[in-house]
Amino acid sequence: MSSLFARHALLPDGWRCDVLLAWDDAGRFTAITPDAPAPANVEQAEYVLPGMVNLHSHSFQRALSGLTEIAGDGPDSFWTWRDLMYRFARRITPAQMEAIAAQLFSECLRHGYTSICEFHYVQRSPDGSWYPDAAETARRVISGAQEAGIGITMLPVLYSYAGFGNQPLKEEQRRFATDAADVLRIAGALEPLRSPAVEVGVAPHSLRAASIEQIKLVLAELPAQRPVHIHIAEQQGEVRQCLDHGGRRPVQYLFDNIGVDARWCLVHATHVEDDELAAMATSGAVAGLCPTTEANLGDGLFPLQPFIERGGRFGIGSDSHVSTSPVEELRWLEYGQRLAAQRRNVALSNGQRRVGDFLWQAALAGGAQASGRQVGALAVGYSADVLVLDDAHPNVSAPPELLNGFIFSGNDNLVKDVLAGGRWAVRSREHVAQAAIAARFRQTLAELRELRS
Ligand SMILES: [Zn+2]
Repeated sequence: MSSLFARHALLPDGWRCDVLLAWDDAGRFTAITPDAPAPANVEQAEYVLPGMVNLHSHSFQRALSGLTEIAGDGPDSFWTWRDLMYRFARRITPAQMEAIAAQLFSECLRHGYTSICEFHYVQRSPDGSWYPDAAETARRVISGAQEAGIGITMLPVLYSYAGFGNQPLKEEQRRFATDAADVLRIAGALEPLRSPAVEVGVAPHSLRAASIEQIKLVLAELPAQRPVHIHIAEQQGEVRQCLDHGGRRPVQYLFDNIGVDARWCLVHATHVEDDELAAMATSGAVAGLCPTTEANLGDGLFPLQPFIERGGRFGIGSDSHVSTSPVEELRWLEYGQRLAAQRRNVALSNGQRRVGDFLWQAALAGGAQASGRQVGALAVGYSADVLVLDDAHPNVSAPPELLNGFIFSGNDNLVKDVLAGGRWAVRSREHVAQAAIAARFRQTLAELRELRS
């Protein structure tokens, strides 16, 4: 049994004082006691928050960040970025994937994410054949998560087609090729790894890459309650192709054919109309918003305010990992809406007028739901995921100002210590295995850049 005494802690019913948090060896809270006397010989912290969930990650893309900001001959877009990403994905080895994942996850932890949902689609070997273990690359990413100490939801991807109407995959997509049986086989192989820190779901890549029939096949075999994530309506081009193919927009097409419910995470959902937004909110599914990647790729802006008004649930993801900070993700989420609407303070509810508080709590609840794990709350039975903010920093002030200051003030990382799954992963802003993980990552980058020329 381990414990921490917090002078201020954000519990499900709001900020409470003098909270004693205790957790067991399995990494789950066993007792949360507000208004407790400060016990002797227990570590003390001033300001404590539950760790954030990062609901959308392609971890290998961390090695690409910063490498795709050079203009080509014509106008650059999501689709030209994708060509570069494919070239990269063609060569990467399982060991390199693991090294990149460990680095990424250590950065995520340092900035306040304690859980990740990995949308994992590089599953075959470079020549397109299967590794002897079809779950080889998924295992490597899970291993990277375990080394870094972050909780993970592994989502093996269903990826069969290059476009609507079952178009055959292109040569450069051969490492991604899976059908419904492959995905179920991989998810089944990962089943013994499930634990409080590891969950397994599935991810049809998109309606471009997976057919409705295939998605139904997977859902029929997948245990109930397991998370299902899908990329949807990220690009106008995708919406046009979907309309051309079936006369309906992507979200409409999905909802007309599949019983979307609360175990679904609709990643991006950038280009949606009012009726689609209403269907998403009513279904209880989570909108998986990735503002820094969506900005980087020039995707567009999700209509957040009408979605919140309808009671829609959302969470945040770092997707391509141009940023690994939940603060930056949430700040961009709010600022994008302000710029589009030419007004201030958009992400609010009737019960919560502080934007920072609303954003953190809503993204935490949505992310936790999308992860399928018992995370996102300082509460008994939940994963012991805790952020300790730096109370010596001038931008950290007492609640109720704390979350607004954390999210909307300055650029220093205010996260000092991070407990994930009951283990200290970050101490005084340093990841506990930072030197070894970073050295392996630098070596991996050197190998990959040699191959690039
Ligand atoms: Zn993605």
